[in-house]
Amino acid sequence: MNIYGIPVSGRLSEKYTNIFSKLETNTPPEIWRGIRKVFVDDKEFELITGFKPAYYLHTESPFEKGASMGLSIKLEFSDGKTEVIDNFGYFQLPIIIVHSGTKLDEYFLAAAILHEVGHHNQIKAKLNQYFSYDEVFCHTFAKQFLSEEIFSRTLERSPFLFWPE
Ligand SMILES: [Zn+2]
Repeated sequence: MNIYGIPVSGRLSEKYTNIFSKLETNTPPEIWRGIRKVFVDDKEFELITGFKPAYYLHTESPFEKGASMGLSIKLEFSDGKTEVIDNFGYFQLPIIIVHSGTKLDEYFLAAAILHEVGHHNQIKAKLNQYFSYDEVFCHTFAKQFLSEEIFSRTLERSPFLFWPE
């Protein structure tokens, strides 16, 4: 599994097995360039405030700056298995982590992934501030690639309402 040659490792929820091929078909390669890897797990969870379906970890994040000994990434799967990647190197960033078991819909998940790709495409100086400007930028970035004809949508609420900021 890959998107534009970027390796995608882990396990995708059965509901979303085509999401990366759809994303590759419907987004330009430039926006993904520089992302080193995508990790995916499929443990089901309800979306709650403060827990997002996707994350972007990059070399300027406060958390990663403190992780001089390497990151530990934990993936949780629907069959109860877990996979822990220890000593994931700072130099292997940036990465995207996708919790594909989130009880949403394909459109919502595509929005979440593209939002994180939006952070990857922000002007570097803006990263890390997490002001609402950044989040609005990323929502707008994601929206330009989203179509209900491509990504199936079952939920009526806005895919952007879940963000805690
Ligand atoms: Zn964001």
